[in-house]
Amino acid sequence: MFYDLSRTLSPRTAVFPGDTPVSVTQNLLLQQGDACNLSSITMSVHAGTHVDAPRHNSDAGLGIDRVPLDALIGLARVVTIAVQDAITLAAVQSLDLTGVARLIVHTRGSDVPNDVFDHDLIYFTPEAAAWLGGQGLRLIGVDTPSVDPASSADLAAHLAFLRHDVLIVENLCLRGVPDGDYEIMALPLRIAESDGAPARVVLRTLAQD
Ligand SMILES: [Zn+2]
Repeated sequence: MFYDLSRTLSPRTAVFPGDTPVSVTQNLLLQQGDACNLSSITMSVHAGTHVDAPRHNSDAGLGIDRVPLDALIGLARVVTIAVQDAITLAAVQSLDLTGVARLIVHTRGSDVPNDVFDHDLIYFTPEAAAWLGGQGLRLIGVDTPSVDPASSADLAAHLAFLRHDVLIVENLCLRGVPDGDYEIMALPLRIAESDGAPARVVLRTLAQD
């Protein structure tokens, strides 16, 4: 069984204040006698569910076209963290991360509708991000638009994950997904040298033995 963690992209998709919204243009329409339906889109590469490339926070970092696929596909653990603002060092140290390379964090962010930007989004303290990186994580997934506070200027949690080579997936929706272990497939579009890209992110339940 599959869980689709991707938020639906549409012109109503909420983006960071000031960022480029999603717009869709119909260039050809069957109903108007054209040979097919054909549309184009304009959007921030960080709109909706997406993967941040290391290039997002460092000019020397890899673009999204070069991030390692083996970090984006494989076993993942979904955990619920019931905090109201910051995910602290104590909160992450209480998690069982034995053998976990990909961690998906379920917060109240999953209940925020696609067309609402949550200015009070749940974020990681830099200490929590650094500690998770030190555990050997390859991938962190969150159901919020950022791993840092919406008003952050230094993006300290992004940088802490970057220093530990942890890829960041943002704006997932985990509503209805039970905590536990899954196979994840998180595949960003292969956009040359991009600082990020929209992604379809899917969990597959593990075969019961
Ligand atoms: Zn991003």
